[in-house]
Amino acid sequence: QDSQVSDSDTITDGHRWPRQNSLSMREWDIPFDELKMNDVIGKGRFCTVYRGQWHGDVAVKVLNVIYLKDEKTLDHFKNEVSTFRKTRHENLILFMGACMKPPKLAIVTSLSKGMTLYTHIHLRKDKFNMNKTTNVAQQISQGMGYLHAKGIIHKDLKSKNIFIENGKVVITDFGLFSVTKLCFGNKDTDSLGIPPGWLCYLAPEIMKSLHAHQPHDEELPFSKASDVYAFGTVWYELLCGEWPFKGQPPEAVIWQVGKGMKQPLANLQASRDVKDILMLCWSFHADDRPDFVRLLNILDKLPKKRLARSPSHPIHLSRSAES
Ligand code: ATP
Repeated sequence: QDSQVSDSDTITDGHRWPRQNSLSMREWDIPFDELKMNDVIGKGRFCTVYRGQWHGDVAVKVLNVIYLKDEKTLDHFKNEVSTFRKTRHENLILFMGACMKPPKLAIVTSLSKGMTLYTHIHLRKDKFNMNKTTNVAQQISQGMGYLHAKGIIHKDLKSKNIFIENGKVVITDFGLFSVTKLCFGNKDTDSLGIPPGWLCYLAPEIMKSLHAHQPHDEELPFSKASDVYAFGTVWYELLCGEWPFKGQPPEAVIWQVGKGMKQPLANLQASRDVKDILMLCWSFHADDRPDFVRLLNILDKLPKKRLARSPSHPIHLSRSAES
């Protein structure tokens, strides 16, 4: 029934299908023709992102869909999309709608004018001072805590999916990972079929299932706790300006993480509290990892430095990243 905008299409961890005829779905359906597509912003593993116009500036993420073998596949996409419309949080990208008519499947969101944390840290080599680092981590935790409270698992939290706009953190790409199984890749992967820069965000339980299956053969065991593990890696990037296990081949990383080994922190000159956050998030057993509510609590208690720079500070302010 059209007028019935119920939450019956609510899904928790992806197990309930949306009511396809409900007004609530159609409301978010954007006809592809209504979008004005401008230049390509970038290509990810499975999507091409365009700068577009739809009642103003938008980002249009077009999925490189290889096949839509049945209705169920399309349902899968709709199902994922139905979760985004429930998200309203200042640290999450604004979902505006989606094109759901095959073969053009696309997600329309607000256009982020800022740079990603990846660009700040790995390309520009910006250094964040400890207060800023903590503030960014708090905002990420706030956005992630909200997503988890809504029953949405991000599945691909990483510095490339975190924008910073005038000091505000905006998280993108939540919940899309399963859809990418339907897509062909843009980028080369290595011999194991693993895209570069992805492994260090994967929790041990996911690493272990990579042994048996190629990444997209089967649903990987993502969970709220695996998102927390990924957050730990982002916290490490913020502190160290690089990824853990830097320069090591994928086989070595998979083996170490699967055995419960962690990136050594001996060279990281940071306080015990700061390192403890890493160790907690990277706990081998998913149950030992804190949730984002607890993480926020811990981050709130980190001492605030009054000085912009102190001799013992782990991070030097060679270049300001305060955008
Ligand atoms: P991967 O596929 O490995 O996750 P990625 O995160 O770079 O890589 P996409 O998420 O597809 O891939 O993004 C492609 C490009 O588009 C990136 O440069 C990203 O920063 C940019 N982008 C994505 N969403 C937006 C947005 N809402 N506003 C502005 N730029 C965006």
